[in-house]
Amino acid sequence: MISSLALKKTMNPSILTRRDALKRLSAAAGLTGASSLWPRSAEAADNTAAPLTPRRAKKIIVAGGGIGGLCAAYELMKLGHEVTVLEASGRAGGHVRTIHDPLPDGLYADLGAEQCTKPGYERYRQYAHEFGLELLPYPRRDGEDRYLDGKLFSEEMLADRKVLSGLGFNDREAEYLSRHEWHDLPLLFFGPYLDSFKDEYQPFGVGLDDLDNISVTDLLRREHASDAALRYVGGKETSALYSLWHAAILKHRGVPMYPKELFRIKGGNQRMTDAFSARLGARLRLGCPITKIVRGDSAVTLHFQEFGEDKRMEADYLVNAIPLPVLKRIPVEPAWPEAKAWVIENVAYNMQTRVVFVARTPFWKSDGLKPHLSIGLNHLYHVWEMADEVPGDRSILIGSAAPGTTERQALDAYRSRYPGKSVEIEHTIAHQWFMDRWAPVCERESFRVGQLAKFIPNIMEPAGRIHFVGAYADNLNWGMEAATRSANRVAKTIHAL
Ligand SMILES: Cc1cc2nc3c(=O)[nH]c(=O)nc-3n(C[C@H](O)[C@H](O)[C@H](O)COP(=O)(O)OP(=O)(O)OC[C@H]3O[C@@H](n4cnc5c(N)ncnc54)[C@H](O)[C@@H]3O)c2cc1C
Repeated sequence: MISSLALKKTMNPSILTRRDALKRLSAAAGLTGASSLWPRSAEAADNTAAPLTPRRAKKIIVAGGGIGGLCAAYELMKLGHEVTVLEASGRAGGHVRTIHDPLPDGLYADLGAEQCTKPGYERYRQYAHEFGLELLPYPRRDGEDRYLDGKLFSEEMLADRKVLSGLGFNDREAEYLSRHEWHDLPLLFFGPYLDSFKDEYQPFGVGLDDLDNISVTDLLRREHASDAALRYVGGKETSALYSLWHAAILKHRGVPMYPKELFRIKGGNQRMTDAFSARLGARLRLGCPITKIVRGDSAVTLHFQEFGEDKRMEADYLVNAIPLPVLKRIPVEPAWPEAKAWVIENVAYNMQTRVVFVARTPFWKSDGLKPHLSIGLNHLYHVWEMADEVPGDRSILIGSAAPGTTERQALDAYRSRYPGKSVEIEHTIAHQWFMDRWAPVCERESFRVGQLAKFIPNIMEPAGRIHFVGAYADNLNWGMEAATRSANRVAKTIHAL
């Protein structure tokens, strides 16, 4: 039964119980346990004590000026706090980066993040609205043709039971795929489990904890999946509980497994991070790599460089918005608490090379083909069109490829798989993110077998006066979605301390 105080708290999240106050104190003293600042629900994640008014403006340093750090700083600034963002490189935005040069005719290309979904990305879309940035429909997955084992399949073919049987799917799977999207196949097996998760921030305690100790492949085998299903949706290393939870979060938010309602910012995604930067003004300090973090009981001290000089700055709180594989290279005193050190050491990210093709004409149109295609090669996974609203014949195709892919390899891969006659590509760019000293990674990987309980909730928990924001610091690992959600959560949490 719900107590009257609990009921009041539900109605008004600004009411602090003694237990809440103690939890917050323990959070300030060191890494907190599972019952601390980890939001109990999506709603709680949004409402973390936001209505509380601070007794005094707090001094906060944000480490890293990617979308997560900029967003956290912007929210803290709006709440009346004294914020400084220390960004190592000469530009803000991190993995959000749009290029205009050397592209011709006013074309532009996003080298990093470019798309958001709807539903999903509520905060990101809210900022687009607030900053007057136009979101354009981005039909890069509509009617997508894909290569499987070197053969090209249309969506219609992949809904044909005969074709599906030929690919090795059993009758149940073929029947399911004849009625559902190709990417929904996991739901045939996961579906019965998903409603067990009542709270999208809590994967444990719903009777499925043991599934963290088996892989997705093991779970699919239990469910009598065919070898074809194991091949396309299995995962020998990924925790089955992690995958179920991931699918449950999407279901909770009404987002499909492979969303097709996509949007991108007209003029490039960097207009979003530029808009945050412009509002932060001189609070954002570029060219200031952080070189050491000292965690004190009553303050955090940051050592950094500016114009080649060693400098120090002290603050009440630090918001870390540096990706964890980069953070782990920065010395910390005293060392991170054990649980946080494990997270920082073991988190895995995927990496990608962004490929940009400049086409003399939109040649796919004369071939009667769509510009987007799932290529399925390491040197080019997918390719699709962007900046299609820019007038003129010249067009841009962008794509993703394995790290280290060269321009030549990407173009050869495209030529080998494009099913039309004419490939009028006059210039190719391959942006190697892994060579970027400060922003070398892409998105957080799925957690491996047995790791969910070590990562959750520790990956989101503060360590004393240091809070964590970014693509890695939320329940769902979709880059800008996680970055903006975690930024809002942390801003409200610090405000309420
Ligand atoms: C090719 C590609 C495509 C992607 N597509 C999408 C997409 O369509 N949608 C989506 O949501 N996500 C996408 N992502 C992921 C998304 O870009 C990232 O997850 C997100 O931008 C990360 O934001 P962040 O603020 O957490 O970190 P980052 O962008 O990595 O920012 C961290 C910042 O910290 C700075 N820094 C590092 N070290 C230091 C230091 N010592 N001192 C001070 N500053 C430091 C870095 O310079 C950087 O600016 C894509 C990523 C890539 C690479």
